[in-house]
Amino acid sequence: MDKEMRRAICGMCTNKCVVNVIIEDDKITGQEYVHRGSEKRSARKWTSIVGSCPRARGVAEYIDHPQRLNYPMKRAGERGDNKWQRVTWEEALDDIASRLARIRDQYGAEAVAFNCIGENGCSDEYRARFQNIFGSPTYAGQAQICYGVAAALSFVHVGGAVHFHFPNRLTRCIMLLGRNPASSTRYEWLQILDLLEQGTKLIVVDPRGTEAAMRADIWLQPRPGTDAALLLGMANVIISEDLYDKAFVDKWCYGFDKLAERVKEYPPEKVAEITWVPAEKIREAARLYATSKPATVAHGMGLEMVPNVTSVLQMRYFLPTITGNIDAPGGDWILGPNPNIILQAQIEVHDMLSREQKAKMIGEKEFKLWSWDLFHRVEENFKKVEKRPLAAWWWIGGAYTPDVYRAMITGKPYPVKALITEGANPLLTLPNARMVYEGMKKVDFHVAMDIFMTPSCLMADYVLPAASYLEKPLIYGGDFFHIVSAGEAVISPMYERKPEYYLWRELGLRLGQEKYWPWKTLEDACDYRLAPLGFTLKSFVEERGGIDAPHVGYLKYEKTGFGTPTGKVELYSTIMEDLGYDPLPKYVEPPQSFVSSTELAKDFPMIVISHRNRNLYQSQGRQIGTVRRKSPAPIAQLNPQKAAEIGVEDGDWVWVETPLGKARFKCQYFSGIDPRVVSTEFAWWFPEKPAEEPSLHGAWESNINAILNEGPDFRDSMTGAWVLRAVQCRVYKDEG
Ligand code: SF4
Repeated sequence: MDKEMRRAICGMCTNKCVVNVIIEDDKITGQEYVHRGSEKRSARKWTSIVGSCPRARGVAEYIDHPQRLNYPMKRAGERGDNKWQRVTWEEALDDIASRLARIRDQYGAEAVAFNCIGENGCSDEYRARFQNIFGSPTYAGQAQICYGVAAALSFVHVGGAVHFHFPNRLTRCIMLLGRNPASSTRYEWLQILDLLEQGTKLIVVDPRGTEAAMRADIWLQPRPGTDAALLLGMANVIISEDLYDKAFVDKWCYGFDKLAERVKEYPPEKVAEITWVPAEKIREAARLYATSKPATVAHGMGLEMVPNVTSVLQMRYFLPTITGNIDAPGGDWILGPNPNIILQAQIEVHDMLSREQKAKMIGEKEFKLWSWDLFHRVEENFKKVEKRPLAAWWWIGGAYTPDVYRAMITGKPYPVKALITEGANPLLTLPNARMVYEGMKKVDFHVAMDIFMTPSCLMADYVLPAASYLEKPLIYGGDFFHIVSAGEAVISPMYERKPEYYLWRELGLRLGQEKYWPWKTLEDACDYRLAPLGFTLKSFVEERGGIDAPHVGYLKYEKTGFGTPTGKVELYSTIMEDLGYDPLPKYVEPPQSFVSSTELAKDFPMIVISHRNRNLYQSQGRQIGTVRRKSPAPIAQLNPQKAAEIGVEDGDWVWVETPLGKARFKCQYFSGIDPRVVSTEFAWWFPEKPAEEPSLHGAWESNINAILNEGPDFRDSMTGAWVLRAVQCRVYKDEG
């Protein structure tokens, strides 16, 4: 039997593991993990990352799955009818380009919206390049609830990207905030387990008793949505008990006295009432964290999808700052761009989008911490310490996404007449999915490119077949952290599948962008980006294993200062003050809660949150048998005591209902959750159910996001982050 290994970057979740894909007798049969770092550990342990990853185990099934999209198709019935006519790429591209040109001429470039999330290893920097040259500021992404706001606040307060999943052997204490790496990031969890063996302490803040929480020295279980109060309370203890790092604070912090005054408003007893966490436990956690140096904080989506997110994330950075852990070895590392390659920042050419167009962006003036204006401010400061440009495409420079769909319906603040959806499934992943659906019905022209026919693709006029990560190369990293990994296409694209790069370049060539697309293929573009390192993509993979990880060092601010207006970590933000916002964090009660909406809470007496299923990634993978056999149905975790109270048994189907509607889940007894809280899986749809309307592959049955609001009360007032967790609901048995 012929057996061969080819290096690739796995694109089936955000971890982007470097893998060796195994090819036996010309068939892909599996993949093995390749470790990027330098720690010594048994190969078996690392291999288990991929070996135990159900998505990776499904690779052989995935590559030629009968439901993969293989040819370009044009709509032949009404949107949602699932009637298609096969067309050539040339026909599709010519028509798409001319429709986009017409819309641009009639309504302005901003009338074309892009909902592209960067999933599936799709090298989204080339989408940004096309869009910026085309002249549209209407990028409808999802970074507001997925690290974008965290990155924005990191730049505002610390002047660089503080990273979270790089604990090392010096780390004496790890605090996980709304993050369960045992489920989401296996390589990080394996590192943490090694550290626990050597005596490192673990604090976990999570409303659910996760695998990480069960291993923690201290587990704090807050009421969902009250994290800002909890972290302010911890800061209160650290400052009032003189546990902070005075030398670092005196020399490197701006506004410490003002923060110290603010946190006096959050004594542990008051915080305990707000959060349900006992005051003594708050004190214990604060003391352990502050006295176990170096310590590191790692946060996850649990912290980014809740109300009051700006203050929550400010405190996430302030705790390591006041304890002197910022950029310290074993602490919270500030990572900058890779010095050796052409960055995504250079590919995206955001300067080609004029300031006039940027100013039009939906949400630009409403959410000033999520605006092009903010980007230009932080970029100016960033350049004082880094000699490299700053990329905008994934974390900022995006519209308030739900309002882009609203603009398709209302024409305000400007008409949005075309939508390009790529590597995204907004009908499942955005709140108020009915409004997203209405927008998709109303928009004049919709193009979708994906691997499988998703509910969102069903609402398109053209559906284009995307190459999977096995059929295209990828350069991952380099802009917000220095480590770069690259992989080649393991096989040539099958059928008529293409990398997303092909779409953007071909549209660019048809729309007057010829001189900006000198690289005929994505491989050529990768060669260009790696040229300063002295490699082509092929030679980089062959000679360097596709990895560049230069040493960037610690305590870099001692030479350069911090990349903020004052050159210090700004605990009192001069940027936020200038923008007219409160420059300090504060606790705000969630828009719906037992406290803020007592009448509503009588009818909706529980709090709904959501969690990730380890077998599934976002809305993907429901077609893959290897994955689906492990997770056949959407789960809602209920405390057995609560379940008994409402007459629900383990395995029963239940309805979770909010004022916006209801969704159906299978009850799973889980004693690690408060009886007042229910946690559901999210982004569920059923590829096996009818494609045509009204089913849309069961997009409305168990879609928790379809019953969450995104109206004015449910948006963070400074960043526009929408609330996907911590809203009121009721739960009852589905008797049908
Ligand atoms: S799907 Fe599994 S192997 Fe692939 S990147 Fe994610 S964790 Fe790694």
